[in-house]
Formats: sequence, C-alpha cells, structure tokens
Amino acid sequence: MNSLLAKLSVALVALVGLMGVAFYVVDRVNTRVYYEELSQHLNAPIAMYVTEQRQLIENGVADLDSLRDLASHAMVINPTAEIYLLDAEGDILGHNQPPDAVLGTRVDLAPITMLISGEAQPPVRGTDPRNVDSAKVFSAAEVRSEAGLEGYLYVVLGGQTYETLANNIGDTYTAKASAVAMASIVLLTVAIGLIVFRVLTRRLKRLNCEMQRLTEARFAVEPTLTRPADGGDEIDELGAAFLDMSSQIRRQIEQLKETDKIRRELVSNISHDLRTPLAAIQGYIETLIIKSESMSASDRGRFLRIARKHVVRLGVLVGDLFELSKLDSTSVTPKLERFSLPELIQDVSQEFAIESSKKDIDLEIEVSDASVFTVGDIGLIQRVLENLVRNAIRFTPEGGVVTLSIAEKPQTVAVAVSDNGPGIAEKDVPRIFDRFYRALDGEEARSDSSGLGLAIVKRILDLHDSRITVSSQLNVGTRFEFELPLIQQAA
Ligand code: ADP
Repeated sequence: MNSLLAKLSVALVALVGLMGVAFYVVDRVNTRVYYEELSQHLNAPIAMYVTEQRQLIENGVADLDSLRDLASHAMVINPTAEIYLLDAEGDILGHNQPPDAVLGTRVDLAPITMLISGEAQPPVRGTDPRNVDSAKVFSAAEVRSEAGLEGYLYVVLGGQTYETLANNIGDTYTAKASAVAMASIVLLTVAIGLIVFRVLTRRLKRLNCEMQRLTEARFAVEPTLTRPADGGDEIDELGAAFLDMSSQIRRQIEQLKETDKIRRELVSNISHDLRTPLAAIQGYIETLIIKSESMSASDRGRFLRIARKHVVRLGVLVGDLFELSKLDSTSVTPKLERFSLPELIQDVSQEFAIESSKKDIDLEIEVSDASVFTVGDIGLIQRVLENLVRNAIRFTPEGGVVTLSIAEKPQTVAVAVSDNGPGIAEKDVPRIFDRFYRALDGEEARSDSSGLGLAIVKRILDLHDSRITVSSQLNVGTRFEFELPLIQQAA
C-alpha cells in the first residue's frame, strides 16, 4: 500500500468513481430537461387545437361539457395531458381531472403569457394544479370571444400520469441503461488507467533500482541507464539528472583519491624539501666538531647561529610542508608581511653559496634598488626562490651562471631566476609545474628530485595572486619570473 502504484491506483479509482457518479446525476437531470423541452415543442399545438374546435368561454361562462369532450380527444393525442380552462385572471374554471385530484384553484399567468408571446424559450415551467409544489412544462392558448380575452386553455404536459408511468417503466429503464453505461466507462477507464500507471511506474521502479545499485556499489560501477536522443519526458529527465549526478560524484571520488594520493606522495617526498637545511646544519656542525679548536670564538658563535637559523628554518619547512599537503583540500592564507626583497635574495644566495661554489657556478645578484619592499609571506616566498635557485644550480652545468634579479615596475616588482643551463624543451614547458613531472630523464634529474619543487612554487604564488612565467631555450638557458606588489617607501 506504500508503493506509488498503489497510491495512484486508489486515487484513480476514487476520482473516476466520483466522476462516474457526477456524470450519472448530470445525465439524469439533462435527460429530464431534454424530455421536457421536446415535449413542450411537440405538444405546443394541443391547446391551440382544443380552443379552435369550440367557443369554450362566452361572456365569462365556461362550456365545461365541451371542455371534457375536447379533452378526451386531446388525450388521444397525448394521454399524459391534463387540461384546465382558466379565466383571464388564472382561476381554474374547469378541467378533465378527477374532482378530488386538483388541489390548486389558480394558475400563475406569467409563464403562460411568456410562452404564448414567445418571450421565453422552452422548457417553460408553470403551475401544476395537482401538485402545487412542483412546476411542469405546459401547452397554452388564449380563449377569445368577440368581447376579447376570456381566459386560457392550459395543458399540463407530463403530468401525474406521466410521472407514474415514468417512475414505473421508462425512467427506471433509462436510469438502469445510463448506470450500466456509466459503470462500464468507469471500469474501462480504471482498467486502462491502471495499465498506464503500471507502465509509467515500472520506469520509475527501474530508475530506483539503478540508483540503489549504484549507491550500494559506491558509484564504482558504470550506470546502465541511457539518455534518450530527443530529451524524453520527465522520468527520462530524472534519469539524465541522476546520470549527471552520479558522474559528478564519481569525478569527485576520483578527485578525492587523487588528492589523497598527492598527499601521500607529498609526505613521502618530504625529504626532498628538507635536504638543503639538513645538509647545511650537518655541514656547520661537522665543521665545528672538526675545526672547533682552530676556530676563533666569534666564528664558532657565527656557525652556531647559522646552524640554529637552519634548525628554525627546518621547523618552518616541516610546518609548511604539512600545510602544503593540505593545500588541495583546505585553503591556506599566507601570513602577509612587509619585507625587503634584496635582503631575502641575499639570504637565499648565501644559502646556496657552498652548493654553487662546489659546481663552480657563478651565483649573481642583480638589484637595481637596494631598498625594494614588497608584501607577502616571507617564508613561502623564500621557498619559491630556494626551489628555483636549487633547480637552476642543479640543471646548470659546471662553470655556468645563475642570476637572481629584481626589477621595479610601476606597481609591482618582478623577481627572476635565470640560468644558462640546458633549457627546457618546448613540449615540456606547459607541464613542468605539474606535480612529480620531470622533463629530464637523465641521472642528474633522478638523483635529487621529486618533481614537486615547481608545483610548490606555483601553489605558493597562486596564494599570492601571482603567476609564474617561464621562458626557456634549449642549450641557451631558462628564466623563471613572477611579480609581487611594490611597496613605495616613505621618503
Ligand atoms: P625537480 O624536483 O625535478 O626539480 P621541479 O618541479 O622543481 O622538480 O621541476 C620540474 C622539472 O622542470 C625538472 O625535472 C626539470 O626537468 C625542469 N626544470 C626546472 N627548472 C629547470 C631549469 N632551471 N633548467 C632546466 N630544467 C628545469
């Protein structure tokens, strides 16, 4: 009883049944009105016929014998006719009914004059003297003498005799026929309706089964639904919407899996980003251990301070890496602060001094103005520069040049890291910012790379609403450039 089909069926039976009853009642009423209208049209000449035969009222005196005589003739034409002779005021002067049958003594003249003058269209109902509470269709004619209007001949049609006959035979027959026809129509409509509902709900049922199947399989299976070429009806639209929804859910599940994979790979590649500060700390500590006796106290203090700075940096890096691993799912807002770009570039260059000198690479700085300030997350921007410089040193052959430069523009300051290394093939350029993408397959690329450096760079610059651009030419060099806001110094 809870199914849609059952509910629709009950509603259909109730509605069609109600309609059947309503139509039956309307049909009965209409049949009666139709009969009355027809009867009034057909019997209109009766009154005229009777009045034309004899002078029924002469100087106010009614000829009742003639009336009865003519009435019996008229009843041959219409046995249900009840004939009354009225004076000019509507009072009954005589009739052809049993004396005790007539209850009224007067007939309302308004309907009579309306029918005779043609003002009203049949069916026009007038007083039934045998049953003053009900109105009946009639035939009427004026009775005139030389003196003028003497009265009316009033013939009630379908009077008491008709009522008795109709109730006993005709009415019950047509009522039964009408009821049987109506019941057949109702049953046929219900049967067809049930078949149609079954067909329609079967499609809904199929859709429901498909939805359950996909939900149970956690959208890991292909939907078997197909889209009709012409768009289809609402159920097809529902199916199409479900298909869209399920493919979106599957896409999102894929994305979630991808994000999860990236997160795992990020964690497993943390070593890539921790190596530089760890190596620096190790270098300074080993130097201290080996050369501590030959070193001056101030040098020892300087080494320890640098080592401590890297430890702090290491802590920041670990925090940043965990933050970056979450970048895909949650939004991280950079901690914006004002800082001096030349100083940052100087720091980064010092960080890579040992590494570059090992490869005999000239690490140059080009700064037009030593007091260029910008705003950004200094830790994250330092990461950007480190990753770019590390790449440049790694890919540039011995004896090459790596340049860190800043150039002021009207509103911004452009920061660039360029080298005269091997360059990047044109086909690789659009992909180098993808996670884990490595353009070079050589030993130098694999030994010390995770393919994450530029992806981190891009993500950080995205957070600063900045875009990194790369221009590269094979065997000539590569140049990475991005812009940061320029903060004008108060004079
Ligand atoms: P990796 O850890 O491999 O350096 P990155 O995301 O930093 O990962 O770089 C992706 C790829 O882009 C590198 O593998 C390399 O092929 C190319 N690439 C990056 N910087 C340079 C550069 N300065 N010169 C040549 N190729 C570079």
